[in-house]
Amino acid sequence: MLKLYKYLKKYTAHIIAIVVLVFIQVMANLYLPTLMSDIVDKGLVNKDMNYIWKTGGYMLLISGAGAICSVIASLFSAKTAVGLGTIIREKLFTKVESFSLHEFDKIGTATLITRTTNDVNQVQQVTVMLLNMMIMAPLTCIGGVVMALGEDKKLTWIFAIVIPFISIVLALVLRKALPLFKLMQVKLDKLNLVLRENLTGIRVIRAFNRIETEKVRFDAANSDLMNNAVSVNIIMAVLMPLMMLVLNVTSVAVVWFGGIRIDNGGMQVGSLMAFIQYAMQILFSFLMLTMMFVLVPRAQASAVRINEVLDTEAEIVDIEDYKTAKNEKGYVEFKDVSFSYAGAEQPAINNISFSARPGETTAIIGGTGSGKSTLVNLIPRFYEAQQGTVLVDGVDVKEMTQEELRSKIGFVPQKNVLFSGTIAENIRYGNKNASLEEIKHAANISQATDFISGMDEGYDHYIAQGGTNVSGGQKQRLSIARALVRKPEIYVFDDSFSALDFKTDAKLRAALKNETKDATVIIIAQRVSTVMDADRIIVLDEGKVAGIGTHSELMKNCSVYHEIVASQLSEEELA
Ligand code: ADP
Ligand code: MG
Repeated sequence: MLKLYKYLKKYTAHIIAIVVLVFIQVMANLYLPTLMSDIVDKGLVNKDMNYIWKTGGYMLLISGAGAICSVIASLFSAKTAVGLGTIIREKLFTKVESFSLHEFDKIGTATLITRTTNDVNQVQQVTVMLLNMMIMAPLTCIGGVVMALGEDKKLTWIFAIVIPFISIVLALVLRKALPLFKLMQVKLDKLNLVLRENLTGIRVIRAFNRIETEKVRFDAANSDLMNNAVSVNIIMAVLMPLMMLVLNVTSVAVVWFGGIRIDNGGMQVGSLMAFIQYAMQILFSFLMLTMMFVLVPRAQASAVRINEVLDTEAEIVDIEDYKTAKNEKGYVEFKDVSFSYAGAEQPAINNISFSARPGETTAIIGGTGSGKSTLVNLIPRFYEAQQGTVLVDGVDVKEMTQEELRSKIGFVPQKNVLFSGTIAENIRYGNKNASLEEIKHAANISQATDFISGMDEGYDHYIAQGGTNVSGGQKQRLSIARALVRKPEIYVFDDSFSALDFKTDAKLRAALKNETKDATVIIIAQRVSTVMDADRIIVLDEGKVAGIGTHSELMKNCSVYHEIVASQLSEEELA
């Protein structure tokens, strides 16, 4: 957690103010019982009303000042802790944004969400408490003992028994509770995961009538979290009354033994009253310490989880002396590239070599899982190739800045993602300077105009979160338009025509041909008709190149391609 507290630097002034205010508050609290004992022992005994009024007024003033300090200190600590939370969340977000897909695969989305929200909250809450109690508890404890000694030395032996006793009880309780506290976050992660899957997969769950099983799964995660919380709370529930019992037994002991000393004339009544109050203050400081001991480890567990994210070095980072592509535009070249996903036994793609030039269309075809998406994901450097080099415009993608590299590419991923916002905003996502004319032009080419103009608000039609209120084909066409407004050197379409009917597919590709005359186009497709007239077709089979060439070349000498074609076209078309 200390590691996170380096972000508190900005709040140094606040923290100093808190320390001073808390110090004043504690001093006021420590002084009050002495004044009270003076009222009893000096004022009441001598029936000196003047003295009583004066000291009473004094007490009122001091406790008022203490209260004001306490309020301001609380305000400052709340401000500081919330500020810290905001800073940590921002750092987390920035970090996560820098992750490559590899880190997302490794850490997991559900836990990233919990870590940015709940874990930061834990740290934030404990920080408020720490800021207040860290100084207050030890100061009150030590100050209380010193003041009690000042009132009556002979009674302080009571503390010598009570304090070790409390310490042992606390140690025992904490040993039991701490592991449970740490488990809380893990269980919350699990709950988050199940909930997320359920919310995003609601259609599938309904369609396959799995509501009951999902309910069971959710219940399991939910009650798991509950049981853990109950166990923790049982321990804590025992702790509080136990502490109160100790507190009360202590005051009885003080009154008992103090009474004996008063009888013997060794102590005054006021001193006894003050002594009881100091005993209370000391024990309360122990209660505060307990709370700290309970909540700090929980926040510590959260802090570890936060630091894990913050310390994860993104696999893909820009090198310092990066190169910029100078003369060439739109060249993509793979030189003997292999890549395997973390934990996979076999490489997803193996020894791939090919090159694509501007004005050319390169098509990639192959069965599902043959590595097509993996291959194109290496071009914008979403993943890092383990072997071989991927060159864009003659420069190794590892030696280019990610920003420059990606500004050259119009990427339409296989899984289309739209953001909540209007249609125009979604298309403009590809190029924030695009005019409405350009947006309309892009929509025209991607054959999206028809359905957009069919909508009430046209380009201002609102897309729901995740694009759930448009069809799969409409989503594809909007994603294509988004890539088009970018006017990139390289277009990558990952299976982007699969949800379109043949007619729209053909129309779109005809329009695209004109638009992408000077650009490099890489198309992944399932349909032979989509790839047939490409300048170069790469046939992938289990991550390896089964053949590269034009349609007619491949028909002659590539059996895998022949099979794919045969499965899609009738005999006459083949001939
Ligand atoms: P295609 O696009 O040709 O259908 P992919 O390139 O998506 O195939 O996948 C190729 C192989 O890599 C598959 O065997 C798939 O299981 C695996 N794979 C894809 N994505 C991941 C990932 N994020 N983590 C691990 N393995 C993956
Ligand atoms: Mg794919």
